[in-house]
Amino acid sequence: MIKIGGIRVPMREEPVQKRIKNFRSVPLGYTKKEAVAEAQRCILCMNAPCVVHCPVRMDVLGMVRKIAERYFKEAFLKIKEDNPIPAVAGRVCPQETQCECVCPLGQTGDGNGINIGKLEAFVADWAMENGVKEEFRIEERPEKVAVIGSGPSGISCAVDLRKFGYRVTVFEALHMAGGVLRYGIPAFRLPRNILDYEISTLTERGVQIKINRIVGQNVEFRDLRQEFDAIFIGTGAGAPRFMKIEGERLKGVYSANEFLIRINLMKAYDFPEYDTPIVCGERVGVIGAGNVTMDAARCALRLGAKDVHILYRRTKKESPARDEEIQHALEEGIVLHELINPTRLLGDENGWVKEVNLIRMKLGEPDSSGRPRPIPIEGSEFTMKLDTVVEAIGTEPNRLFLDRTPELETTRWGTIKVDEDLMSNIEGVFAGGDAITGGATVILALGDGRRAAKSIHEYISRRKE
Ligand code: FAD
Repeated sequence: MIKIGGIRVPMREEPVQKRIKNFRSVPLGYTKKEAVAEAQRCILCMNAPCVVHCPVRMDVLGMVRKIAERYFKEAFLKIKEDNPIPAVAGRVCPQETQCECVCPLGQTGDGNGINIGKLEAFVADWAMENGVKEEFRIEERPEKVAVIGSGPSGISCAVDLRKFGYRVTVFEALHMAGGVLRYGIPAFRLPRNILDYEISTLTERGVQIKINRIVGQNVEFRDLRQEFDAIFIGTGAGAPRFMKIEGERLKGVYSANEFLIRINLMKAYDFPEYDTPIVCGERVGVIGAGNVTMDAARCALRLGAKDVHILYRRTKKESPARDEEIQHALEEGIVLHELINPTRLLGDENGWVKEVNLIRMKLGEPDSSGRPRPIPIEGSEFTMKLDTVVEAIGTEPNRLFLDRTPELETTRWGTIKVDEDLMSNIEGVFAGGDAITGGATVILALGDGRRAAKSIHEYISRRKE
């Protein structure tokens, strides 16, 4: 019996005391019965605001409807038309500010719209477990396209180019594919077997992924331009920003990127089984309040830290992190300190960080980000004892590739300049994802990759005429 509306089917989660000791997934996923019950709450709006508010207009309504009817295969195929990595997107997309927040059920019952992200993850996991794959016939074409970077933008561009029939080679600097999904987002949010599986669907379709290839270092950009008919640059924004305060060079002070790469990519939590160590103390401070901050703080806890403090210059309300990530961090005992900002890091006689000087802040008028500007309160300085500090205050595109390709036009923020078709100033060279926007979201990067693939197809087809 279909039950429209009502209360959201809760997601079962790993209990707090258990989960803070391991890197296993915190949400345990819907069962078939739960997924169907959740999907059957959908009132099937005519105007589908959930689709309209998805940055890539995924047919989430179509997917939810098929789950409600227990047609899991059809639900999976529907979502796969728009999204090459639904198991990933279902887990990490900020649905609460996109498709879910406009669901009319959010205004009634328990105030929760349809749990679209968890349904998307359910149906993608179901397909993986049951060996259900998207079927498409590839009409091979002779032209070759190079994709630089294997993050979400590179993945989605490569998949769509392959569907058009191109011979696609992805060049990835690191020793594993996935970009931030691999080295940034921890396994307790995105289990690695899920990521591996979704990436394997690319290679099965004939996309070649070459790892340990740093374009601009051990692969020349000009060689790619000669060998390939078009190029997509999806190199992300992986270079950390720093606060530029005294003491940042002390031992025990990390950028979030380094901290997370050591843990997620190099498996430092399993040292000496793996080669890369990490030193994480008992009192950890993480500066910032975005998803990266939450990930670093929750990783520190799992590495054995006793107290983990988030130091944020605005308030929780202005935090750019996903609601679920903040909620999980707080449940796990991480303390979010609002309206404070570090001014200096102090070290001991051996050069290890031992405390941080902070100043209290108040909120002023909105700044260029649209959020209230944090203003220091004179005379409010105080100190906090910390033995590890992680800075998670944002990232920007890595200069390595850009400095070696001076012919590529960039903006004053170091992002690659593109036109409305995502073509750069160099003919046949396209770009997308964080490389053009600065640090953004997985779904926007996916959307750019798809748009660029379409533009590349049009560009190559035009050239042939
Ligand atoms: P990336 O994912 O950064 O991938 C770029 C790839 O290019 C990397 O693999 C890199 O090694 C490779 N590369 C770089 N230079 C070269 C070169 N010269 N040659 C070859 N390869 C190169 N977004 C969300 O929507 N939800 C979240 O919950 C979320 N959490 C996040 C948590 C963390 C810790 C971080 C850092 C980001 C998070 N984001 C989240 C943001 C999201 O992950 C990014 O917006 C997205 O991954 C960008 O995709 P991309 O393809 O543009 O770049």
